[in-house]
Amino acid sequence: MSGHRITVISQTGDIIYDSEKSPESMDNHLDRAEVKDALSSGKGESTRFSETLREKTYYLAVRLENGDILRISSTTQSALASFDNMFWMVFLIAAAVFVLSAVIASFVTKHIVKPINNLDLDHPEENETYPEIVPLLSKIRDQRTQIKEQMRELEKKRLEFDAITENMNEGFLILDHDGKILSHNKSAMKLLGSHNDNSSGINVLTLNRSEELRTAVKTALGGTDSVQIMESEGLKCRLLASPVMKNDKICGIVLIIMDVTEMYEREKLRREFTSNVSHELKTPLTSILGYAEIMMNGVARKEDMPEFTRHIYHEAQRMIELVRDLMLISKLEESSPMPKQIINVLDTACNVAGRLASKASKHDVVLSVTGDNAEINGIPSVLEEMIYNLLDNAIKYNKKGGRASISVKKSEGDVILEVSDTGVGIPKSERERIFERFYRVDKSHNESIEGTGLGLAIVKHGAMLNGAKIELDSDDGGSRFRLIFAGV
Ligand code: ADP
Repeated sequence: MSGHRITVISQTGDIIYDSEKSPESMDNHLDRAEVKDALSSGKGESTRFSETLREKTYYLAVRLENGDILRISSTTQSALASFDNMFWMVFLIAAAVFVLSAVIASFVTKHIVKPINNLDLDHPEENETYPEIVPLLSKIRDQRTQIKEQMRELEKKRLEFDAITENMNEGFLILDHDGKILSHNKSAMKLLGSHNDNSSGINVLTLNRSEELRTAVKTALGGTDSVQIMESEGLKCRLLASPVMKNDKICGIVLIIMDVTEMYEREKLRREFTSNVSHELKTPLTSILGYAEIMMNGVARKEDMPEFTRHIYHEAQRMIELVRDLMLISKLEESSPMPKQIINVLDTACNVAGRLASKASKHDVVLSVTGDNAEINGIPSVLEEMIYNLLDNAIKYNKKGGRASISVKKSEGDVILEVSDTGVGIPKSERERIFERFYRVDKSHNESIEGTGLGLAIVKHGAMLNGAKIELDSDDGGSRFRLIFAGV
């Protein structure tokens, strides 16, 4: 906005006075509307707008008494023009205000936030801060207590779960809907043949490529329980895979892996045992039947009759021996415990030697029993059977004119009974197997020596029942079986 301008104009339109310009430099103003009006009516007004200057000028003209015209004008700038003029000033002020505000805001914010940043949220109640956030801190404290309690409860549950699953012999796995492992125990890794202790996140099928595992996982992911038998790491494992459902959708699988090798082995042994028993019984029976048939049909010559009868008697005796050994073995395998008592081992050995004395002299073997009066806590009948079978073998597998000896001695709290012979010896490769039921070293070599193949199996079982350890060494000069008992 500019100030007021005063102009005095003569009746002829010439400029007499102007407050801004020299009158000579100005045009005649008789054509100006306000001048025209003032001359005619004593007063005139008009407004003119300059596009270039974007200014509006108001004119007021009055006729003075002497006929001259006094004109006062006032010029105002348009809003746009005012803005143009003020733009930079406004901009600079705004920028300055902005920068200043930013600096102040940053400073004030830092100042306000500092105590909040320094809050110790682990101990919310110990903070000295704005009273406004005290309720928030109380809430945080309450929630921390609640979270701690829940964490403790969860940890307890996790430990319980880990303790159960880690001590399980069965493998236990939880898989997601893609077969990836979410959780597993150590046994699972062992049975799957993985040496990786932590296999979480890994697809179970990459740990073991067995077809049965693939089928179990696939079937369970299809929504059906699956039971499979898989071979892994030389073991037979039973796989039980069950789907886990959530909102009618399969979200994972629980997979249990059981080592059933022992069960399979036992089943195999049972089958072998049955077939061995049938075979061993059938051989003497067939022989008896053959001789009986010949005698019955009257085909046998009279002079052969005693020989045939002797064969029948002999085979029947072999059968009785076999049945006796079988009954003994099954008695030893019975789960019901037999009563134990204090036994003098030397006395028992002497008894056994007495029972086998005539057999020894038939085989031309010298028997001897020596040693200490040692006692053990054991089952008398079982101990007697053990010594009997060992001494019987020492006689049977001896050389003519050989010796079979029993010695009993005490050693560092143990009682050691040794049955030694001067017989054929046992090859190293056979020493493990001779304790198996029906196992005889070399059937052709042993053919002439009678036996059921059950004697050492009885010794092994008896040793288990009497808490004894068996040791064996053998060479060309004979064999030495040692039974080591805990003394009393
Ligand atoms: P068997 O009824 O055949 O004697 P055992 O179980 O008592 O059955 O013995 C198994 C095998 O071990 C025998 O067939 C024999 O070959 C061998 N054996 C056992 N004791 C002796 C020994 N003292 N000397 C040599 N071989 C032996």
